[in-house]
Amino acid sequence: MPTSSKPAPVRAGWNFDNSYSRLPETFYTRVNPTPVAKPRLVLFNGPLAHSLGLDPAAFTGLNAAALLTGNEALPGAEPIAQAYAGHQYGNLTRLGDGRALLLGEQCTPSGDRFDVQLKGAGLTPYSRRGDGRAALGPMLREYLVSEAMHALGIPTTRSLAVATTGEPVFREQTLPGAVLTRVAASHIRVGTFEYFAAIGDTDALRVLADHTLRRHFPHRAESEHPALALLEEGIERQASLLAHWMRVGFVHGVMNTDNMALCGETIDYGPCAFIDAYDPAAVFSSIDQHGRYAFGQQAPIAAWNLARLAEALLPVLHPDPDTAVARANESLASCHERFQHHWLTAMRGKLGLFTAEAGDASLFEELLRAMHRTRADYTHTFRSLQPHATPKPNSPLHAEFAAWHLRWTARLTQQPQPSAEVLRLMNAHNPAVIPRNHEVEAALIAATGNDLAPLQRLLVALANPYDEADQPTTLLTPPPSGTPTYRTFCGT
Ligand code: AMP
Ligand code: MG
Repeated sequence: MPTSSKPAPVRAGWNFDNSYSRLPETFYTRVNPTPVAKPRLVLFNGPLAHSLGLDPAAFTGLNAAALLTGNEALPGAEPIAQAYAGHQYGNLTRLGDGRALLLGEQCTPSGDRFDVQLKGAGLTPYSRRGDGRAALGPMLREYLVSEAMHALGIPTTRSLAVATTGEPVFREQTLPGAVLTRVAASHIRVGTFEYFAAIGDTDALRVLADHTLRRHFPHRAESEHPALALLEEGIERQASLLAHWMRVGFVHGVMNTDNMALCGETIDYGPCAFIDAYDPAAVFSSIDQHGRYAFGQQAPIAAWNLARLAEALLPVLHPDPDTAVARANESLASCHERFQHHWLTAMRGKLGLFTAEAGDASLFEELLRAMHRTRADYTHTFRSLQPHATPKPNSPLHAEFAAWHLRWTARLTQQPQPSAEVLRLMNAHNPAVIPRNHEVEAALIAATGNDLAPLQRLLVALANPYDEADQPTTLLTPPPSGTPTYRTFCGT
């Protein structure tokens, strides 16, 4: 066909097919975004737009800002607030999208399907005491950290845009309001299942399990026991995700069951942070006073959340309650092993091990104990490890590590790969740069004061986290001593 007859990109490339809004009405409430005073686009993610089949050039000017705040409807959008519940710090609560609206599901040229959601789009029937809105700082933070996670190779929801609303939001202070356009494989959460289990709607549970299986695990869609297949796949995805978090030192901060997505993506960048000094007890969230969601607690908490999923699925696991419980328990029993498997694989990568040996777990634990004792920087220490070399006196691996280093060298000699290959494997697992908390904070403060340059620089640096070249020194080194302990807020 001659190129001249090629149709122009239709409607900027929006191609919605909204399977969730075809589910029964109990799954959501139809709500339109509440218009805002003065939409203005602050950040737009061209590469993500492109991968979604959208034409980035169509997202300039006032029209784009109007679309990405909800002032104008995207073609094909059918906005809904999704119903869900969730265990928040251990207590089951009825929640639902209190300030987010799912606009629709974008079907991409490569055949994938992604939820497009506006976060901060106004009140919904699930808003409870909230205002339905979001502040600029936290939305920029979600944009930055989620894109950093994506570049680190970690499954995550992504951020298409941040637009300001021209309206204030009232928190402890008055802050500029903003809307984030979030893109996710789906927003189906453990809490979505808990919602239907709590209201005793077994039919809805079956529909949801079937929908989720078809959407995320189509290879198991014809399974004889769909709910069991879903549970098994859910466990596997979380185990793999958690190993990634542990690999890069990510602390999610609020692993409530409503913030755990069945698709296995990291979701909800509220009080998250990255550890500097290695400490399994590291907590950043100001409200996590008992360390429920501390760095080293994340795998057991994920397993706890999966047990809540299993519990919610009981009525559809088997009509006989005892058989259902037996199936759930059998599946949950694999959790520890699945988590351990993925963690060991990630740690082997970090230490350049191509093979598996029985003593590996203890090799990793010995290093981590030494790092904990010396408050060694997690990212910097791993990135500084030199295979088959004696640590330099000024390396982060000082005397405390000498015995461990000998043990590691002996372990490396058990495999045939030369140092260069070992280092390549290590460099693919150990980021050179992460979103350092103090850098993120400084960039957000500048951005809310209208200077986007530091944030833009950080976005560029974090797009290639495994590459040292051209990275700012401040990102390649641990925070200066005296940097105050980082505190995050479930800030909205
Ligand atoms: P999160 O802590 O972000 O996971 O949110 C937990 C619940 O609170 C979800 O149901 C949110 O929709 C709701 N929520 C958070 N912030 C607001 C807000 N500003 N207005 C209304 N609902 C909110
Ligand atoms: Mg949430």
